[in-house]
Amino acid sequence: MNKMSVLLIAYMLLACNGQSPASPVAPAAVDTSRLSNAANIAAIESEAALANGTFSFIVIGDNRSGDAIFSQLVQQMNDYAAAQSGAHKPRFVLHTGDIVPSGALSEWDNYAQLRAPLELPMVYVPGNHEMDSADGAANYQGLVGVGNWSFDFGSSRFIGLDDSSGSFSAESVAFLRQQLGLGGIVQAPPQHAFVLFHMPLAVGRWIVHSVKPESEGGRGGEVTAAITQGGVAAVFLGHLHLHDEMQIDGVPYIISGGGGAPLVTIPLFPFPEHGFLVVHVTPLEVSWEWVSLAQ
Ligand SMILES: [Zn+2]
Repeated sequence: MNKMSVLLIAYMLLACNGQSPASPVAPAAVDTSRLSNAANIAAIESEAALANGTFSFIVIGDNRSGDAIFSQLVQQMNDYAAAQSGAHKPRFVLHTGDIVPSGALSEWDNYAQLRAPLELPMVYVPGNHEMDSADGAANYQGLVGVGNWSFDFGSSRFIGLDDSSGSFSAESVAFLRQQLGLGGIVQAPPQHAFVLFHMPLAVGRWIVHSVKPESEGGRGGEVTAAITQGGVAAVFLGHLHLHDEMQIDGVPYIISGGGGAPLVTIPLFPFPEHGFLVVHVTPLEVSWEWVSLAQ
């Protein structure tokens, strides 16, 4: 018997003696690290806008419970970004909240897999659905981060606020005022300021699904006053599953809530569409376009 035959027989004995069964393989853990706002903001800030301060970004929201459509939109955002160049190439995505159905960890694992193909960094504000389960708030804080945040990009400031409870806290209002350079706090004013929160203000047709009115402590009036006083360029919202726009005290408030959840199709709202918003920024102008879900 030659050496090779001995080795072969030894291998067969080892393979058949049952003493070394393959241990069960644990399912691979889902990588949720790309959900972190801090990590995404660091990725955004590591890039520079074009020298003249022009850039573009995407706003999407309310994908929860609409996985198939959201997956299509993720691909469509990738395709949109790949087809653009220069100032029109989106650099990041802002998410206006209602990311998962109720905030359970298993839902975040599912969402992380849906989000994984998206090539751009994405930063979130919390929606009410993230807080629906008992540990929803803790899960959001652990995976995504705090509800109020800001970062600067290309001489613009982006400010996220938490109104997921249906009202703004006094701390959120103070944070907004501070970030806008109001209230005696001296800081270099940004070229443009953009504000992001989930529930629209209780104004006009939006009152059917909005933050609480002033009489119930919603603090929307304080937020609106700061936004107007601070010269905010645009405000981005979700909660209503559609695209809509309204001017409040001369500031455009834009709902981008067409990320996948069932559309709101009542006659009050003219644009019940799935899709996302693309915003273009130059030193002198801010403009935007709605991109509908490709059929
Ligand atoms: Zn909502």
